[in-house]
Amino acid sequence: MSSIDTLITNTIRSDVRAIHGYHVADASGFIKLDAMENPYHLPEHLLRELGERLAAVTLNRYPVASYATLKERICAQLGVPDGYDVILGNGSDELISILDMACALQDRRAVVLAPTPSFVMYQRSAQFAGMDFIGVPLNADLSLNLPAMLDAIATHKPSLVYLSYPNNPTGNLFDADAIVAILKALGDTGMAVVDEAYEPFAQQTFMARLPEFDNLIVMRTVSKLGLAGIRLGYMSAAPKLLEQFDKVRPPYNINVLTQAAAEFALDHVEILNEQATLLRAARSELAVAMAALPGVTVFPSAANFILIRVPNSDDAHVKLLSHKVLVKNVSKMHAVLTNCLRITVSTPEENSAFLAALSAALAA
Ligand SMILES: *Cc1c(COP(=O)(O)O)cnc(C)c1O
Repeated sequence: MSSIDTLITNTIRSDVRAIHGYHVADASGFIKLDAMENPYHLPEHLLRELGERLAAVTLNRYPVASYATLKERICAQLGVPDGYDVILGNGSDELISILDMACALQDRRAVVLAPTPSFVMYQRSAQFAGMDFIGVPLNADLSLNLPAMLDAIATHKPSLVYLSYPNNPTGNLFDADAIVAILKALGDTGMAVVDEAYEPFAQQTFMARLPEFDNLIVMRTVSKLGLAGIRLGYMSAAPKLLEQFDKVRPPYNINVLTQAAAEFALDHVEILNEQATLLRAARSELAVAMAALPGVTVFPSAANFILIRVPNSDDAHVKLLSHKVLVKNVSKMHAVLTNCLRITVSTPEENSAFLAALSAALAA
């Protein structure tokens, strides 16, 4: 064994050595329908204006660590209740790490619980923080198994329960009353994180309900709205909780370019909202068109992606790739996702190209 391998064995955690890195498919030359990105751009004149704003940013100084201006804008424009603040993250991925780090106990292994299948980072981040992850399988119709969730909460006493609302990769919204039952069951022993990454497409939120629950955390991101590249997430909760989480946040975690771009986007948020409206309409059309194809089951979606079941997902995935269409084959993620593909809703042109490719893939 070379000395670098010995060095790795001696220093890097065995559970880290055992896993594979987060895989991102190379998408060059493909119609990219695998990552829930907004396919639209800002109009030309706004891009020029954005360029001027970014050029005016002071790059030689650290960001102003309070991020007060951007946070106030987010609170005022994005429905955060009066008296509530937000914490910003380098994507909501970082917010998940911050929550887990803050809750990873030192005297015993704390527990993170989430329905499965759901967003993979809930499990991965819990592992990295040294927490135990408990996954509670969804029902076959992809709804939350509330009795099983409540049982698992009683048994495992999770510090954090992650609820993707709507759920990635299934696209459905869990029953709001079930989420309330989970919040009540957790009481003062655990917090529920309602992850609203797809809120622009679901138009359902727990944000306004923060004052009802001391143990509710509402998390969002601008990624799916059309700004995945700038990496900005935010979360709100009772001020006393945010105060604790903020201690774990790296002090300058949001860079000045992201900050300026986000403030610019908030000045023009109506454009992003119009794009979300287009995508919601396209979602309905795409769902109807896919359901008309032989052998395709379309699951209801409140997000900017749609889960479908086909007769043979591996075969369909490979054939779609040969048509230069990249979708996510989620069939191996969980038993309830057997033969399922996840498709990001895109422009009318890309959706048509995808439909033609899917139709050909299923016929061949
Ligand atoms: C995409 C996604 C995120 C990640 O958001 P970033 O802000 O880009 O890190 C978080 N939660 C869910 C459920 C997602 O699907």
